[in-house]
Amino acid sequence: MLGVPIGINWGVIGVCVLLFWSLAFVSLPNVAPAHPSSAYWFAGVVGVLAFLVSLLVHELGHSWVAQRNDVRVVEITLWLFGGVAKLEGDADDPGAEWRIAAAGPLASAFVAAVSLGGAWWVDDRGGNQVLFGLLVWLGAINVVLAVSNLLPAFPLDGGRMLRAFLWRRRGHKAPATRIASMIGQVLAVALVVLGIVLWVRSSWWTGVWTVALGAFLFVAARVEWSASQARPELLDETVGLIARPLPTALGPTSTVAELERALCDDPRAPFVPLVDASGDVSAVLPRESIARIPPAQRAVVPVRSLAMPLVGLPRVRSGETVAQVVDRLGRGGHWWAVVVEDGTLSSVLVSEDVENVLDLATT
Ligand SMILES: [Zn+2]
Repeated sequence: MLGVPIGINWGVIGVCVLLFWSLAFVSLPNVAPAHPSSAYWFAGVVGVLAFLVSLLVHELGHSWVAQRNDVRVVEITLWLFGGVAKLEGDADDPGAEWRIAAAGPLASAFVAAVSLGGAWWVDDRGGNQVLFGLLVWLGAINVVLAVSNLLPAFPLDGGRMLRAFLWRRRGHKAPATRIASMIGQVLAVALVVLGIVLWVRSSWWTGVWTVALGAFLFVAARVEWSASQARPELLDETVGLIARPLPTALGPTSTVAELERALCDDPRAPFVPLVDASGDVSAVLPRESIARIPPAQRAVVPVRSLAMPLVGLPRVRSGETVAQVVDRLGRGGHWWAVVVEDGTLSSVLVSEDVENVLDLATT
């Protein structure tokens, strides 16, 4: 769906069996008594299928917004505690991260509203009480999905929204991840404690479920927390490892439309090298400069009108370490440093990539 492969984890089967049992043998006979058991069973199966669709809608909400923010979705897996939409990398700005995270709970809230609206409609018309009970149940399940995912415990959706917020406030992602995943661990422990209290004092079923959810969350938050710890050894990483490769150079007669195509094929390249008449790269064609040419003229305007001289850009060697580059070029600015090897412009070091490494390397 949306071009995304969808998988199901075997744990979901267990949850489905439990849900079927609670629907067909407990909830529906309570809400709508005096129906044949076959009606409860049928509604139980429909309910379980609707639950799976609800999980899918939640994940498709994330996927849809991710794709609109240029983050590729590798696959969607439905499993024990809901679904996981596996994204290729993270969003590169906090706004996109916030929107992607918020989309899932929003989709669940929408399904809840539709189900509860349907339940009201059925009841209003004096319709079938089993159907009424089923729709209320589905609405409630989706409210639970929306609300529990909004818990500010990274890596849950609410925790991702919290990280995006901290990321925007502090300007850096790694420290935001550290704080959000620390809060995630604290909340996970709180859930386990709450689960034990529920287990002992009221419903063992809700208690066990809450303990399991807390334990799962703790492990997930712990993994993210360890991954976001400072790794000073990254400062010794070399330019060659983090520099971005560049697209093939364009010639002096190429048009702006060709430049646009080259950059579209290579979304991480900040510019395309430009060779002059003698075959040397003496200038670059920055991505932002395309906007200066109206779209209608791009097929005829030659790229040299957008050229930015190569001599203006700082140079780095691919064997230099991140620490050495930062010593020389400083922190915080926006720059491109070109890597020229054997006389050819081979790749570019982008200041944001260096900042990302520094984020991960230092606290
Ligand atoms: Zn979600």
